[in-house]
Amino acid sequence: MTNVNTLEIAKFNAHADWWDLEGSYRPLHLLNPVRLAFIEQFVALKNQKVIDIGCGGGILTESLAHAGAICTGLDLGSDTLCVAKAHALDQQLNIDYQLIAAETFAKMHPASYDIVVCYELLEHVPDPAAIITACAQLVKPGGWVFLSTLNRTAKAYLHAIIGAEYVLNLLPKGTHDYRAFLKPSELLRVARHEHLSLKKLAGIAYSLTQKTFHLSATVDVNYLVALQKNYAS
Ligand code: SAH
Repeated sequence: MTNVNTLEIAKFNAHADWWDLEGSYRPLHLLNPVRLAFIEQFVALKNQKVIDIGCGGGILTESLAHAGAICTGLDLGSDTLCVAKAHALDQQLNIDYQLIAAETFAKMHPASYDIVVCYELLEHVPDPAAIITACAQLVKPGGWVFLSTLNRTAKAYLHAIIGAEYVLNLLPKGTHDYRAFLKPSELLRVARHEHLSLKKLAGIAYSLTQKTFHLSATVDVNYLVALQKNYAS
């Protein structure tokens, strides 16, 4: 398995406070309603087979399960997955969490999911294209792939690293590496190659006054994409 940065996995394993609303993952909790609503614009989640790649402690996975989806979550952080499993048990949610690389799992389960979600992972792996390819393999024809990551712009550097990590203390220092940020054009080139059609590209903006995130037309910091797998490829 080569498409993994073990330092990244260790960094997330070391911060086990996934469910502390005021802890290391506060931004993910704040982002969660927006990114769930983004998915629900396109699909009703009830009884859909959904896989969440790089699921972390299950912040989004659990909200998908609460909405009635049949959820699988993959991550390579063993401590992280322990937190996810324990919390799901607490919530009496039946989520299938697995410690396995997305690329390996995709080979075992091609065209098996109605919806594939991969939020805030692409900027933490050496080869994001390989993850997008795995997403495209996992989804059924006509199914949906939802991705989010950080754009590689000066503004993203200022907001996501200097602002969030150093000024506002929203994220632990060292969470993000600017060089791993991905431009929408780069992401979409891989998506097209994998027969995924773009249905929506939206930005996420943070309101300093309200301390909440909302969808925005500006994609120069965080952005989300909705892609649909072509029926014939
Ligand atoms: N998607 C979740 C968590 C994002 S944090 C959410 O948005 O709420 C990034 C997660 O990716 C961490 O849990 C980390 O362990 C995981 N990760 C990092 N590299 C990975 C890889 N190569 N394969 C799978 N998961 C990975």
